[in-house]
Amino acid sequence: MTVRAEPAQHAGMRASNLALVLGEVARTSPVSRAQVAARTGLTKSSVSGLVTDLISAGLIVESAPAAAERGRPATGLGLAPGGAAGLGLEINVDYLAAVVTDLTGAPRYHHVVRRDNRDRAADEVVADLIEVARTATASAASQGLPLAGGCVAVPGLAVDGTLVRAPNLGWPEVDLADAVGEATGLEIDVQNEANLAALGEMWFGAHQHEGEPLRDFVHVSGEIGIGGGIVIGGEVFRGAHAGAGELGHVVVAPDGPRCGCGGHGCLERMAGQQEILARAGVATMSDLTRACEAGDRAALDAVTDAGRHLGVALASVLTLLDPAAIVLGGAFATLAPWLAAATSASVSHHTGAADPPALLVSGLGSDAAVRGAAGTVVRRVIADPAAYLTRHTPR
Ligand SMILES: [Zn+2]
Repeated sequence: MTVRAEPAQHAGMRASNLALVLGEVARTSPVSRAQVAARTGLTKSSVSGLVTDLISAGLIVESAPAAAERGRPATGLGLAPGGAAGLGLEINVDYLAAVVTDLTGAPRYHHVVRRDNRDRAADEVVADLIEVARTATASAASQGLPLAGGCVAVPGLAVDGTLVRAPNLGWPEVDLADAVGEATGLEIDVQNEANLAALGEMWFGAHQHEGEPLRDFVHVSGEIGIGGGIVIGGEVFRGAHAGAGELGHVVVAPDGPRCGCGGHGCLERMAGQQEILARAGVATMSDLTRACEAGDRAALDAVTDAGRHLGVALASVLTLLDPAAIVLGGAFATLAPWLAAATSASVSHHTGAADPPALLVSGLGSDAAVRGAAGTVVRRVIADPAAYLTRHTPR
């Protein structure tokens, strides 16, 4: 495709029109050119030209016929499953993960390496992550999927591609964007795992509110650390210093034990995975679920106790934010059969509401963050296809 030199104003207008058209195709497909024109307010001939460009860039394909208009079937347009793909990576306290998601949002590669990363040097874990990333990019290449970039989910605070603070890993600052970017040749973004898990849930989860995907909700990631992803109006609320949503450090037991953050009685100390395992007297999450299934008293007590403390924190979250729903993710999703009833009862008790907002269980579980990371990359292409075309114009 040749790119003509255009006045800046025209280039800017073309960029926003490309985004308008691709956004409409992403929202409802199959969709006809005429429907796109009607919904975007662009003329049929400009839509036609823009669609041609998006097809030659590999971002749109002609798909099944769209709904017949006045009895005349029109060709349907859809996102190209072979178009720009996203690489999602995750470093968590006890695993590394990679996902490749195609432009339609479908996962095309998924791999998890379980290993406790707490007693390991950052360099060593980053080297392992790069290995995981290389295997994922090789899989994308073998499937003919062009990667538009990557995003790493981290259990801590990330600023401009650097992991600044990760209390549960105890690492110094790590410039992940540079290290992973250099090794993979991709542009890499780094974001907090709880925020990405909330986005993953919004984009790929099954839950809805009044027939629409959730747009106002809080996603609770219960891994070794507990994080909250606050979504307001379809956007993650990050706070003034990117630290919003630290649900694990909300106080639920004022006289409770000291926490790694320096505070006392934080939710993470009362309902974190590590605390639940210790109280249940088991070593791993699979031991814990097995013990719960077998009706082991200590395991069930540990889980319901954690559920009650979680409910105390969520009661405040509901009062403060009035979300449409709270989604339990990560280990809390795994433990939901034994935990959710205690959490609901605790929420009702502390809010005084007989009918509090829905407490939902994520179907994505611990995959939400890495799915959200990959989704961030493809969503960016859909939001600004012109930027993608500039960087990835086919020969
Ligand atoms: Zn704390």
